[in-house]
Amino acid sequence: MTTFLGMPATAPRGVGNLRGDQTFPEAAHDALGNDQMRRNLRHATTTIRGKSGKVIGELPDWQRLRDAGSAIKADVMARLPFLLEQLEQNVTAAGGIVHWAADANEANAIVTRLVKETGSDRVIKVKSMATQEIGLNEALEEAGIAPVETDLAELIVQLGHDKPSHILVPAIHRNRSEIREIFLREMPGVDPALTDDPPVLAAAARRYLRETFLSTTVAVSGANFAIADTGTLAVVESEGNGRMCLTLPDTLITVMGIEKVLPTWQDLEVFLQLLPRASTGERMNPYTTMWTGVTPGDGPQNFHLILLDNGRSAVLADEAGRSALHCIRCSACLNVCPVYERTGGHAYGSVYPGPIGAILSPQLTGIEDNASLPYASSLCGACFDACPVKIDIPSILVHLRNEVPHPRGERAAMKAAARIMDRPRLYASAQRAAKLARIAGRRGRGLPPPLTGWTASRDLPEMPSQTFRDWWAAR
Ligand code: SF4
Repeated sequence: MTTFLGMPATAPRGVGNLRGDQTFPEAAHDALGNDQMRRNLRHATTTIRGKSGKVIGELPDWQRLRDAGSAIKADVMARLPFLLEQLEQNVTAAGGIVHWAADANEANAIVTRLVKETGSDRVIKVKSMATQEIGLNEALEEAGIAPVETDLAELIVQLGHDKPSHILVPAIHRNRSEIREIFLREMPGVDPALTDDPPVLAAAARRYLRETFLSTTVAVSGANFAIADTGTLAVVESEGNGRMCLTLPDTLITVMGIEKVLPTWQDLEVFLQLLPRASTGERMNPYTTMWTGVTPGDGPQNFHLILLDNGRSAVLADEAGRSALHCIRCSACLNVCPVYERTGGHAYGSVYPGPIGAILSPQLTGIEDNASLPYASSLCGACFDACPVKIDIPSILVHLRNEVPHPRGERAAMKAAARIMDRPRLYASAQRAAKLARIAGRRGRGLPPPLTGWTASRDLPEMPSQTFRDWWAAR
């Protein structure tokens, strides 16, 4: 049997959450004015970095694990069609049903149809980046089906009518007093005497969710990994809500990006060591749930797996950018990124914020729809060092910057620079002019138009009192 994935196409417009309403600089400008958010972010990312660094330091073979993770992912990308078909065969043999979704519209339509067929008007959800990417909650609500997020942070985001701002900790921009206010305002049956003590807030969410778990017959999840060899799916999480969603309902619908497949169980072993240490700073994930198709009398009796492309084939087609598909969504690159720490996740306009978002979103949507994101980086390289699967994010950023159509002014400036550097006399005069510009800039006026914008956000570099040419001429 052959599977036709179609010509590589980018994620469609008008659906899902991969594009923002503003460019990154515009959105970042607004975000930088939010002192509370920046304080929350700094505290949270510093704490996670500390925890993660400590447990990574315990493993003498961490670098070799990273190499192994990177090599396994490169192998997966090289034979993705074969592995996906193998996965389909094994899931089907184990009693599951596999659906192929070319994009967000198709995936949303399939999930909506499947839920409607069960007769349920409510689904419980395990935290899932893929379903956020395609805007599944919005599509279900439009069809009269209520999606209930069961991960605590996702629940806070949902009740607050907000957007996630971090891959791992979607409500990282909220502090506990803000969460208390959201619960008091939005959570049915909440105790009006609720305090902002974290265990009290968690207990309130637990009470609210427990009744929903026990009375809902359909669950929707994503998947962290799928093993082609056996047709097994895996979800890792920290709260146990995922375990409830994956075992209690009659019907389980899993939406999985096609890049999540792994060849064998042995490969999974590598990622189950890499992921928790790089993401939550734990030695192993508190809950790792795995299932293979349907087991009569145990767990969901109907299992549907939706294999989602939504631009991934287009990413795969770009040899220089395809390693963005190696990402295991650990969020380590976000936690070390100086740009993310200051702007927060909303500025990226996509469900994938931070360094991984800056390379993944523009590739999924096509560069023209996220042209400013590859510039949302200082290219310091901290993300590359932190990435457990060694994605060379800075190189992909530079690659994508070269794909962005540069503004006419910038192209003219580069052409002028090339002309000057080609002519020694002109170059010497330009150096003298630069010295004068530096003096003018120091007096607070910055560079004259059209370069005013450049000096509005940067210091002019210090010009040496004697250039190399002057020094050479003097001898
Ligand atoms: S790019 Fe690397 S560090 Fe960033 S989320 Fe993905 S796996 Fe983690």
